[in-house]
Amino acid sequence: MTQYILSIDQGTTSSRSIIFDHDARIISNGQLEHEQIFPRAGWVEHDPMEIWNNVRETVGLSLARANLTYQDIAAVGITNQRETTVVWNKLTGKPVTNAIVWQDTRTQHIVNELAGAEGLEKYKAITGLPLAPYFAGPKVTWILRYIDGAQEAADRGELLFGTIDTWLLWNLTGGIDGGIHATDVTNASRTMLMDLDTLQWREDIAADMGIPISMLPEIRSSSEIFGHCRDHGSLPGVPIAGILGDQQAATFGQACFNEGMAKNTYGTGNFLLLNTGSKRVHSNNGLITTVCYKIGDAAPIYALEGSIAVTGSLVQWLRDNLGMFADAPDIERLALEVEDNGGAYFVPAFSGLFAPYWRPDARGALLGLTRYVTKNHIARAALEATAYQTREVMDAMNADAGVDLAELRVDGGMVANELLMQFQADQLGVDVIRPRITETTALGAAFAAGIAIGYWESEHDVIATWNEDKRWTPQMARLERDQLYRNWKKAVTKTMGWVD
Ligand code: ADP
Repeated sequence: MTQYILSIDQGTTSSRSIIFDHDARIISNGQLEHEQIFPRAGWVEHDPMEIWNNVRETVGLSLARANLTYQDIAAVGITNQRETTVVWNKLTGKPVTNAIVWQDTRTQHIVNELAGAEGLEKYKAITGLPLAPYFAGPKVTWILRYIDGAQEAADRGELLFGTIDTWLLWNLTGGIDGGIHATDVTNASRTMLMDLDTLQWREDIAADMGIPISMLPEIRSSSEIFGHCRDHGSLPGVPIAGILGDQQAATFGQACFNEGMAKNTYGTGNFLLLNTGSKRVHSNNGLITTVCYKIGDAAPIYALEGSIAVTGSLVQWLRDNLGMFADAPDIERLALEVEDNGGAYFVPAFSGLFAPYWRPDARGALLGLTRYVTKNHIARAALEATAYQTREVMDAMNADAGVDLAELRVDGGMVANELLMQFQADQLGVDVIRPRITETTALGAAFAAGIAIGYWESEHDVIATWNEDKRWTPQMARLERDQLYRNWKKAVTKTMGWVD
């Protein structure tokens, strides 16, 4: 096979373009960070034009580094940060305002209005999601309500909504010159506008949110030909054949195809997904129900998900806002200089608490401080926070699924941190396993695209590429691990109710 698959991985902090060969080996890679815009407390924005330009540039970089041209690329897969919302004018191709990022909490009042007397679970039976500022629908409401002229332009049918996958697809396939306005089921399942059974938009929910149906993209499967790239994207004529939200793509790339298999991704936030097969499981323990993937005409596969807003971004915060170290990996060295957390617990509820609490009124706190505590203990407490939050999600998952998870496949930037991975195994009491290819997100989107065009035959090709790299086995005594976890739980309760 002389051709390759190009995967566009548009993440929260950076955009990447990764080229895979038929053995799923990485041939080359281009990456560019984009600006994180914080206009006010609780607001997080990205510039959609910067993201689109960066994506184009990284595609060019990855091709050039491997000495390839567009003719060597059999198909493109797209995977993206989920829920981040773009509204643009289809006549000018320009966004009406910056993208509102998934972590942004500005829509809290809209969420409260929507909940009304029925409460935050109003749409959960239909969409699988509790009402929370995290999801895309209310972000569209905010844009229509507060951006000058947006409502009028929407009424004239000029505005389009999309998550980042849709924004990139539309631009890659021609933009104002016939761009395709579509999304896949996994991204659509994060808007709070899609019915999980029919996989179609719910007109009643869109009406509640004041969103005209004409703004919404067509919902397609995760693995099919969405359209072909036009000249200006440096991949003329190449089919875009796979789209998956980043966490679903990682689940695909981790080959979690059987019911009961789970992966946890440690990036900006943490996202634990458990494949529940063709059944959509309703959570009674603070998890959400989401579409895991859908291959062409085959039936959809569902997942239970535990989303944690702040894990790796706490490491960034210590680096950037406190200047505690120069590079994210330095945190491990700092933490290794002490034996334990010195009694300190760091609850990073910067965007409120996501799973399993869904408490937008919580804010971050550092608890248990005494004169004894040093920055080394705080570094350790920050890493431990990721592991405790994961344990809370895992406990919820075990309760919902009715069986205990036997092991956990992990990926994402933080899994390079050995101290964290050992502590994670200790806290969970099960083995934590890192695969050889940790670029599971990009790989998942590449496979979805490759399967759609027959470059790869089926999910079995993914399974064949999955190999274990390293395994961490629990070592901590039960008494100690449970004492630490009890303290964590106590710390979490102190952060709730901070915002009125
Ligand atoms: P995303 O795809 O969400 O942008 P990545 O999977 O690339 O994120 O992971 C990057 C995150 O991981 C950053 O938040 C960074 O702070 C954190 N990180 C990277 N390396 C380490 C490390 N060795 N120890 C702890 N955290 C790390």
